[in-house]
Amino acid sequence: MNFNTALLHEGVDKKEKYGSTLTPIYQTSAFFQQSAEDLAGIFGNKLPGYCYTRVANPTIGVFETRITKLEGGIGSVATASGMAAIFNALTNILQSGDEIVSSSSLYGGTIDLFRDLEAFGIKTNYVCNNNFEQIENAITDKTKLVFAETIGNPCLDVTDVDRLAEIAHKHGVPLIIDNTVATAYLIKVLDHGADIVINSTSKYINGSSNAIGGILTDRGKFKWTAERYPVLADYLKLGPYAYLAKLRAGLYRNAGACMAPQTAYLNQIGLETLGLRMERQCTNALLLARHLEEKYPSVIVNYPGLESSKWHDVGERILKGGYGAIVTIRVGTKEKAFKLLDSLQLVYRLSNIGDTKTLVLHPASTISLHSTQQQKEDAGVFDDLIRISVGIEDIEDLKEDFDKAFAELD
Ligand SMILES: *Cc1c(COP(=O)(O)O)cnc(C)c1O
Repeated sequence: MNFNTALLHEGVDKKEKYGSTLTPIYQTSAFFQQSAEDLAGIFGNKLPGYCYTRVANPTIGVFETRITKLEGGIGSVATASGMAAIFNALTNILQSGDEIVSSSSLYGGTIDLFRDLEAFGIKTNYVCNNNFEQIENAITDKTKLVFAETIGNPCLDVTDVDRLAEIAHKHGVPLIIDNTVATAYLIKVLDHGADIVINSTSKYINGSSNAIGGILTDRGKFKWTAERYPVLADYLKLGPYAYLAKLRAGLYRNAGACMAPQTAYLNQIGLETLGLRMERQCTNALLLARHLEEKYPSVIVNYPGLESSKWHDVGERILKGGYGAIVTIRVGTKEKAFKLLDSLQLVYRLSNIGDTKTLVLHPASTISLHSTQQQKEDAGVFDDLIRISVGIEDIEDLKEDFDKAFAELD
């Protein structure tokens, strides 16, 4: 099946009890069983079925299956947010004394989380994305995973996922990729060697900004060993399912950051139009980036789809169907950035990406507020930088809104 058809049909429950084309919202905390023995069996993971929504729920389960099919993995775990997905994905295999090697071009919230993990004895060594020599040198015996975003938010650098996976595997560690900005529409990172893919569903998958959520998907190919991953020792007998089984029976269940059934329902609706929206949004982003680059020579326009981008070549090689729907611009000073933001009429000033509507934000004073100056620069955040998450509007209206706002700057 091709991409858009698969979004509509793969993983869908076609035997739904009453014939609903969308799995209904099982808005219930717990599920009763016909016998105490059944309940004991389900609770103890010996029988299939549902006992408590924090562990599993039919609506969430169907959403997980649909994402598993989309990403080409063996299973998924849906969480309360993208941050919860990252937290679950990492701490499922980490313990005190371990290290992470990560691209420094990250979403600000992830940098904050990595700092929080230091209190538990987990250290992150940041490396320059795509600097493979530096990355190899940063991997030590204590390293348990390599982490990167396919398209860094908001740096917009494009990770050479194949090369990074090769290096991680050479050193016996998995590659975990946050694919929120690129989405499976542009690249299925599991096909490029990544071991676990994370999506904040709050963004493009949901698409209309009506529910916070996250999901991680395991490719099931990484060879875990008890020596390097002692926390997985009891689960290695499950072969490719070791990682997911430990997560669902342990940390996911115990940390309690499950996705809400209603969110899973809304995400199923969003998922069906992911391809259509991404196609339109990537086209709009390219047209807007070209327009701004041509019309305002003093403005630095950063978009991997532009030939002027440092990341155009790697983007062209690994992304299919576009270069993402985020554009950043540098307008000279923070004052000008604020003035421009305040002069825009059509687009929304808010901290989010991936909506059908165009959104703008000043990263330095918002999503990267808690980063150090160096961390900001490494993540491509400058005082005069504006991030534009391009929506599905008619491009002429977007161009006009920006042109009017630029006219206010003079
Ligand atoms: C938004 C975002 C997250 C966090 O997702 P939430 O759903 O807001 O918790 C993580 N990574 C990237 C790249 C994001 O854009």
